[in-house]
Amino acid sequence: MEEISPLAVARRQLDMAAEKLNLDPNIHAILREPARVMEVNFPVRMDDGSVRVFKGYRAQHNNAIGPAKGGIRFHPQVTLEEVKALSMWMTFKCGVLGLPYGGGKGGVVVDPRTLSKGELERLSRAYISAISPIIGPEQDIPAPDVNTNPQIMAWMMDEFSKVKGGVTYPGVVTGKPIIVGGSLGRSEATGRGCVIIIREAAKRLGIDLTKATAVIQGLGNVGGATARFLAREGVKIIAILEIDGGIYNENGIDPEDLLAYREKTGTITTYPGCRPISNEDFFALECDILVPAALENQITPANAPGIKAKILAEAANGPTTPEADEILAEKGVFLTPDILTNAGGVTVSYFEWVQNIMHYYWTVDEVNARLEQMMVEAFACIYRMSQEYKVGMRMAAYMYSISRLAEAIKVRGWA
Ligand code: NAD
Repeated sequence: MEEISPLAVARRQLDMAAEKLNLDPNIHAILREPARVMEVNFPVRMDDGSVRVFKGYRAQHNNAIGPAKGGIRFHPQVTLEEVKALSMWMTFKCGVLGLPYGGGKGGVVVDPRTLSKGELERLSRAYISAISPIIGPEQDIPAPDVNTNPQIMAWMMDEFSKVKGGVTYPGVVTGKPIIVGGSLGRSEATGRGCVIIIREAAKRLGIDLTKATAVIQGLGNVGGATARFLAREGVKIIAILEIDGGIYNENGIDPEDLLAYREKTGTITTYPGCRPISNEDFFALECDILVPAALENQITPANAPGIKAKILAEAANGPTTPEADEILAEKGVFLTPDILTNAGGVTVSYFEWVQNIMHYYWTVDEVNARLEQMMVEAFACIYRMSQEYKVGMRMAAYMYSISRLAEAIKVRGWA
């Protein structure tokens, strides 16, 4: 089967919502392309003295409502198309939560596992220096994504500050360590938000979380935190799929213990008390909640027909192809879309940026309470819209977000 590119998926989703909304064709055309894209090729000195030239991108999809906002990914399969798609999804995600941002996304084509810590630092600095002309606290604010973390954000903030003449700019990136302006609660915010959305969905569907089971693909930043918060809600996690294999235990897996085990051994596959599970069997498991928290295009027409979960909570960006979407809708799976489900991360990134600008910092309870309120309200709003227009949650989220953007584009006089 031909793999559909994330950009084609993002555009298809936009087109479908545009049609339902009867969107002005000029506004539709504006939203189909990122407003600005930068490709950079930058040298990095390796530990052995050689120089390697890396390729990176930054896409800024739209700034009708505010500066671009979105993560930076380090991955060997990063492409310009993928970065563009991810920047589009960021615009729509910020719209769903009502954040004063447009979407941005960046990436470097690299497998960071092949780099030493020094090489990783030099690469992070060189990339941010290369894209520095188009980023800044009022222009475009990057954040962590796949394979980037608070330490990398700290190097990037430091490098940007140096490039700009030594003034410290904490608000240029979010997801920083607390000591240099990070927000309390940011590191687990995406997972926390996912679980708020799952909880709200479960309420509407009459599912008791203390009796529910879940399976999670990808135990990284998002999947790991989602697993921990789900377990705290009383959900039994019966399977986890990682890049090097999956594990299953019908009696439940303790995520805290599993994460500690992986920290020691580097893998989940040998975790005691579990049996291995194939990729194929994982998606066909009998369970209440399926959480894809790895990468795009994981749920396709090949595995969608076998899915038995009642709720599919898209923690990853773009995990479900449009064809799989249709299959799931026919099966009656309640899908909570990525642009709502994983928006907890960008919401607390927004809080971090606000705190950086104010130079006044909130307690973790304040951060979590504000996140809770915004996610619950966003879910209720999108759910209402889906009922009113008799459309799925993804379509409702797009319709809501695009309506706001269209209004901003109109009043700014762009179309
Ligand atoms: P991460 O790198 O911390 O974790 C990804 C995990 O998925 C890793 O453990 C990796 O081994 C695993 N994985 C990769 N390919 C896999 C495969 N084929 N099968 C099973 N597991 C696989 O990244 P993350 O930050 O947790 O991001 C995960 C997803 O969530 C991405 O789609 C990202 O764009 C999205 N997201 C992240 C954030 C955030 O705050 N970090 C916010 C919103 C959305």
